[in-house]
Amino acid sequence: MSVTLAIALSALAMTIIIGVRYLLASAGFALATRIKHPGLYAGQDRQMRREIIWSLASAAIYGVPAGIVAWGWQNRGWTLIYADVNAYPLWYLPLSVFFYLFAHDAWFYWTHRWMHRPRPFRIAHAVHHASRPPTAWAAMSFHPIEAITGAVVIPSLVFAIPIHIGALALVLTIMTVMGVTNHMGWEMFPRSVHGGRLGGWLITASHHQRHHAEYRCNYGLYFRFWDRLCGTDKGLGTFDLPGDPKDGRGGAGVRDAGRRGGTGRA
Ligand SMILES: [Zn+2]
Ligand SMILES: [Zn+2]
Repeated sequence: MSVTLAIALSALAMTIIIGVRYLLASAGFALATRIKHPGLYAGQDRQMRREIIWSLASAAIYGVPAGIVAWGWQNRGWTLIYADVNAYPLWYLPLSVFFYLFAHDAWFYWTHRWMHRPRPFRIAHAVHHASRPPTAWAAMSFHPIEAITGAVVIPSLVFAIPIHIGALALVLTIMTVMGVTNHMGWEMFPRSVHGGRLGGWLITASHHQRHHAEYRCNYGLYFRFWDRLCGTDKGLGTFDLPGDPKDGRGGAGVRDAGRRGGTGRA
């Protein structure tokens, strides 16, 4: 088989894996939403269809660099991914996971802030913010330009930071789960997590919901480090959940603030 064909097949395989991973994760949390908060996505069928189409297109974009690097890893010895768990000290395992998450978070924060400048916003990021409010299907709902900025991160990091294959699987799992749950419109973690000391540094749905409602704050992905350092952290948002007397529909919850959110340049 020619090298070009082998790389193309690897990219295709990765696209299918990423697409199926998205569908399963989003379907799972959409189902959880239906059980926990029935009616939360009522009237959003059209938006959810849109989110799924953009997300599957993003899966194809994510599949290309992932497929090229996976091929090179298997056939050319590329990357610093290792399979022997004793190749590095055991304490390096959790540290490597943290390095990946921290590096991805830093890249995301700054590219995300850039995409909130008026022109890049219109061209590349309005697609993601067209979800008002987002649902569990919005996890990969990106314009192709935004998808490219996300797709290159992990395939680049595997050349720079050694990681065990199992730790890499954990990073990808965290990426997938947080991508879905941060958009699903309710908080799955107990208050002790996102409202506690640790939550002061971690991003969960309560934090990202506020980004979708107010646009010009809370840009981070996993950690509040950059937002806090740069003064863009506005704290946690609230959810407008059906049947919740505090945040009843038509009230001033984030859900409505998001709907009124306007241009994204506010
Ligand atoms: Zn988002
Ligand atoms: Zn944004």
